[in-house]
Amino acid sequence: MNSKGINHYIEAGKRATDWHNEYKKKTKNCKFDTIAVHGVYSMQEALDFNQGSTIEPMYMSSSQGFRDSDEMEAALSYQIPTWCYSRIGNPSVYYLEGVLALLETYGTDIEASCCATSSGMSAIFSACEPFLVVDKNDPGKPINFVAGCQVYGGTFQQFAVRKEEERNIEWRKVINSNNIEEWESLIDENTRFLYGEMPSNPGQAFFDLEKVAQLAHKYGIPLIIDSTVATPALMRPIAHGADIVVQSVTKTLTSSGFGISGAVIARKNLTSNIDNPEMKADFGMYIKALPNRDNGPNISPINAILTLNDIRTLRSKIDLMSRSTMKVAKFLESHPHIEQVDYLGLASHPLHDLAKKYLVLVDSEHDELYNEKVNRFGHLMSFRVKGGAQSARDVFDGLQRIWRATDLGRIKSVATIPAISTHQQQGEEGRKIADIPPNLIRLNVGAEHPDDIIADLEQALAVLDGKKVANTAPEYSAGGASSARLRR
Ligand SMILES: *Cc1c(COP(=O)(O)O)cnc(C)c1O
Repeated sequence: MNSKGINHYIEAGKRATDWHNEYKKKTKNCKFDTIAVHGVYSMQEALDFNQGSTIEPMYMSSSQGFRDSDEMEAALSYQIPTWCYSRIGNPSVYYLEGVLALLETYGTDIEASCCATSSGMSAIFSACEPFLVVDKNDPGKPINFVAGCQVYGGTFQQFAVRKEEERNIEWRKVINSNNIEEWESLIDENTRFLYGEMPSNPGQAFFDLEKVAQLAHKYGIPLIIDSTVATPALMRPIAHGADIVVQSVTKTLTSSGFGISGAVIARKNLTSNIDNPEMKADFGMYIKALPNRDNGPNISPINAILTLNDIRTLRSKIDLMSRSTMKVAKFLESHPHIEQVDYLGLASHPLHDLAKKYLVLVDSEHDELYNEKVNRFGHLMSFRVKGGAQSARDVFDGLQRIWRATDLGRIKSVATIPAISTHQQQGEEGRKIADIPPNLIRLNVGAEHPDDIIADLEQALAVLDGKKVANTAPEYSAGGASSARLRR
């Protein structure tokens, strides 16, 4: 037998890792758009391994084959770069994780790693669980975490039902997340992490991230931020001190709307009061290789590739959609049937000045259109219709261009009534503390021309003046069109 021996593979693996790290370092110095377009996939790699394919390959294979038992052993003990089995890793997934880690740490020399997941909810689960382990020396000891109450409805349920009700892990709710004293008053020695969503969906809650990060670190615990609404094109929480970012990649990152996915992006050497050195050193890699391997919530390669395609143009899309949202928000703010518009971009919003500190279009100062840092506030807003729940439903039902769907982050404008959809299950009390009244419509402005979106809102709001909206929906789908001409 002429076995090469396990060390042969380990050394080859080391050379490959060094090469990849070098390539990533070079890419890290590029501008945001360049990173978004190319990510960590290189021409060299394409020529050597992927038949020159200019686009990242989609490996739908469940598993990887090995040259011999030595290579298999080296791979399965994580001593060489490997993906072995798609529940654990996959080349297509690797490219998505690589680009997200670079984008979330853009403009800093912070190192981060990413674990892509099957949904935003599994990203939140994967990010929180490693901190909620029982204390082996004192298994009966209570556990808590401190998190804002203005969170996505699914997050509310995961925290309130799956963690608190079912497992007695206390969710200490911050009612006014921009009150640092309130955060601090809830922390004790049993607190495992701080968690916030900003801007929140749909309430546009926002807080001084740097101060909350400092507070977390004062108590030796990590800060986790759900940054889905902002995306790295507008805000990068890790640069402001956060330890972990979770993304519902489903949303703006995959604005075309192809499927559900999520991601956890974490700085290396994060802060935690859990005695787990491996976890703290490289959280993203840790959850990928261990808990997520065992729990199995990772992403499918097809979702990874579809998302990569959308990420390439993230910055310019967010700029366009943010500008359109501003125009729509101003229109609604001056409309007689509107009680209140919640959008951080409006000067009337109480957190506008604070939001300006954090929500900045990345690289706008290097963009010849702007040549300075410009604020952009994303494409999620909400508005409250005068006259209560029924009026809001009438307006909602009158929409003809804007989609009625429980979705956001789309290239197509989408609206929902959170109280009867995304935030229904948290109940009246849960909605009250999160300030989600039944007359609130959440609107996500897409990339259409804003005048057409305004025209749609205008005709829908005219319902309240007694103007009837013509029901233009045909009885049959265009996909099944027939023609008299073809009838024989
Ligand atoms: C949608 C959403 C989630 C959940 O993501 P899924 O991909 O639907 O599982 C989490 N946080 C925010 C802010 C969201 O909008």
